[in-house]
Amino acid sequence: MSEYVIAVHGGAGTISPGQVDVTPYHEGLKAALQAGGDVLRRGGSALDAVQAAVQSLEDCPLFNAGRGSVYTSDERHEMDASIMDGQCRKVGAVAGVHGVRNPVALARAVMDHTQHVLLVGDGALKVAREQGLATEDAAYFHTEERLAQLHRVRAQGRGAMALDHTGQAIVGANPAPICEDSKYGTVGAVALDLAGHLAAAVSTGGMTNKHPGRVGDSPIVGAGIYANDASCAVACTGTGEQFMRACVGHDVHARMAYQGDSLESAAHAAVFGDLLAMGGSGGLIAVDHRGHVSMPFNSLGMYRGVLRSNEPAQTFIFQ
Ligand code: ASP
Repeated sequence: MSEYVIAVHGGAGTISPGQVDVTPYHEGLKAALQAGGDVLRRGGSALDAVQAAVQSLEDCPLFNAGRGSVYTSDERHEMDASIMDGQCRKVGAVAGVHGVRNPVALARAVMDHTQHVLLVGDGALKVAREQGLATEDAAYFHTEERLAQLHRVRAQGRGAMALDHTGQAIVGANPAPICEDSKYGTVGAVALDLAGHLAAAVSTGGMTNKHPGRVGDSPIVGAGIYANDASCAVACTGTGEQFMRACVGHDVHARMAYQGDSLESAAHAAVFGDLLAMGGSGGLIAVDHRGHVSMPFNSLGMYRGVLRSNEPAQTFIFQ
């Protein structure tokens, strides 16, 4: 195997109207591709690469993960994250955590330093303390834009999900290319390394105005994330409840493993089949063991990008 590839996403959703400067979003995606690509270029593992890429997106306040996470209905941050190694199918995941600068690093610590797959709340935070992971106070995670989104969503009497399936975007004070009030803002990365191994990582603040304690698909193996060297690595973004019910991540793997589908056809079927029929909106990024990449979405836009060995990074927002 002489080629590496990494793909990232920064969430999906409807498109904001009007003139919007998309440059910072492309730059944020490129920085993440670069962070992951640097690991792969040096012969590092897909696992380290997806963690590096997701940490870069967590540190960027434009994306809803880590710094810049959305608010729950009681104006707090509760973050979910996961990471999966396709070689041995080890997984680490956390849900409902706060104060940890990089939730994906905590997911990795759960994978590396406990015998468990998923830890929530205080138990997960105990691992963060034991492993000396970086923490931040509430002010670090606060962004005026996110709080304003929560207030707008509340004022419009919209539910916990703040969804907009119609494509009618809500004009906010600071419009973004994808309407922030109705966006599914998870970030994710998938990679194939030079040794031929696959990995995936996901991190999110969840949905604006979500119920305290609500956990989405992002930390649920087989739903928001999946990786298996025999088929593919998948990272999802969208309406988590439907992604969980449709087991989207594992669906892509199963179509390839049991039906012999190509990555493209499996990923397309997972996003436009059952998921869409049950009202699920969003998309996924996936890479297979041959280095093919697929990034389908059934919403109007998805922040996404791909970087291959010896090629410049490419980033996209709309169809
Ligand atoms: N899937 C995430 C969740 O339901 C949200 C997102 O993708 O932005 O928490």
